[in-house]
Amino acid sequence: MDNMKLAELLFPHITKSPEEYEDIFPVRELPEGARVTRMAPSPTGFIHLGNLFSAFADERLAHQSGGVFYLRIEDTDDKRYVEGAVETIVNVLDYFQINFDEGAGITGDKGDYGPYHQSQRAELYQTFVKKMVQNGQAYPCFLTEEELSDIRAQQEAIKANPGIYGKWAVSRDLTLEQIEENLKAGKPYVMRLKSKGQDLPPEEMKTITVNDAIRGDITMPENNMDLVILKATGIPTYHFAHVIDDHFMRTTHVVRGEEWLSSLPLHVELFETMGWPHPVYCHTAHLMKIDETGNKRKLSKRKDPELSLDYYRRDGYHPMAVREYLLNILNSNFEEWRIANPDAPIDEFQFTAEKMSNSGALFDLNKLSDVCKDVLVKIPAAELCQFMIDWAKEFRPEILPLFEGNEAYIEQILDLGRTGNKPRKDLVCAVQIFDFIKYFFDDHFVIENELPENVSKEDAKAILETYLAGYDHNDDQSVWFDKIRTFGAEMGYAAKPKDFKKNPDMYKGHVGDVSTVVRLAVTGRSQSPDIWGIQQILGEERTIERVKAYAAQF
Ligand code: GLU
Repeated sequence: MDNMKLAELLFPHITKSPEEYEDIFPVRELPEGARVTRMAPSPTGFIHLGNLFSAFADERLAHQSGGVFYLRIEDTDDKRYVEGAVETIVNVLDYFQINFDEGAGITGDKGDYGPYHQSQRAELYQTFVKKMVQNGQAYPCFLTEEELSDIRAQQEAIKANPGIYGKWAVSRDLTLEQIEENLKAGKPYVMRLKSKGQDLPPEEMKTITVNDAIRGDITMPENNMDLVILKATGIPTYHFAHVIDDHFMRTTHVVRGEEWLSSLPLHVELFETMGWPHPVYCHTAHLMKIDETGNKRKLSKRKDPELSLDYYRRDGYHPMAVREYLLNILNSNFEEWRIANPDAPIDEFQFTAEKMSNSGALFDLNKLSDVCKDVLVKIPAAELCQFMIDWAKEFRPEILPLFEGNEAYIEQILDLGRTGNKPRKDLVCAVQIFDFIKYFFDDHFVIENELPENVSKEDAKAILETYLAGYDHNDDQSVWFDKIRTFGAEMGYAAKPKDFKKNPDMYKGHVGDVSTVVRLAVTGRSQSPDIWGIQQILGEERTIERVKAYAAQF
């Protein structure tokens, strides 16, 4: 076979030499040890927690080392293209403060290694397939869908591995004349790698060993499949585009899901065929959860709303909290670092691929809530208030007026009990914060809980009336509480809960029951931050009004 002639026949329009591309996309000038990473999503418009998880790892690896993190759009499958997908990706990642230095962007590509949409790189890919044909490393395959399924059926019948290899790779043997004829007849064809792997029983196959930054050495049988590298449309498969793009975009580390592990031998063979070193692979484990039945399973798009990133935005999870939580599950040593460095910004944590889990990172919404509480307590009220405004603008416009223009009031509310050396940690996310503080807004204030069981309706009325009679908005907290304790005791409620515990028959209840009645009047709830503080924020008039209104219910 005259390979040069075949290459010309198949790719007459390709005139650039492969070497030229080495000059067009030179090795990047970066500091020693700098990492170049990328996020390479298909533009399906759906981006989930798993994507964010790897993107964060990519971003950390690049930015911690003075490297580059870029966005490449893998749009070789036009059936899956969704309008506006790049915008979604960039905006979503931006929300979580994950920023690209280079690549596809909302207003176009940025950077010297583009285009960053694979659909615009056909010529580059074809140049290298042409070179492979010249070297006898690739060939056109004219098998029809029917012939392919026939081969599959034959392979199934004899329990052979499915795929095109060995004797099944019939197009390998076509003569130049036959190929010419097929082309003239307009027969569609794909380009396949002519794999060097042998058709041998698995135990006799050679193996490859790749050092994965997360998993250590991975040994697998080498590839022996003549896999498709260019589809009939002239557009590459993921496998081929990965090799070409990550070489020419000078990616040093490829962070991708473990579903790609099985293709690793093919990728290694492709890199070898091109004569290039392969990047460092970091195959991440799936995100797992413990489900209702106590079993560990993969997060699923269908069953778990928390897999979708919309979930976090809609419920208003603060990006800093989500970042902090992701680091918790990304790196096993993060928690320890956080304990030793409670106030350090998370960017000071040295993220490493080696410390990533290779068996499945466990995602747990309860743990996320705990992390949120710890993170939110450190965010100044003014910033949190702005966060609530931004969230309401997008997701709850009807409550926006409660926040916008009312910043001083909101900040007082958010700061309630957050100062001092034992600050309250009860703010989780915007939805929960609104629910937590909504009794501060008259239109959202309702009595939600029942009277304590030790307090009768008559007593409740009497407590509220006595409270009102002695109410002085200027009382400090201890005077205020003493009054409750005193009149409570007069009404038969122990001044201390422990007195009641010791002698339950001597009392109706204790001071806690009395103050709960006041709390219910003021907040509608039997639990809340400190009532005195709440009243100071509500003001005298609204406090009195609420107590009167509640007393009138009995
Ligand atoms: N387009 C591939 C995906 O979305 C990218 C995998 C990779 O990062 O190489 O799964």
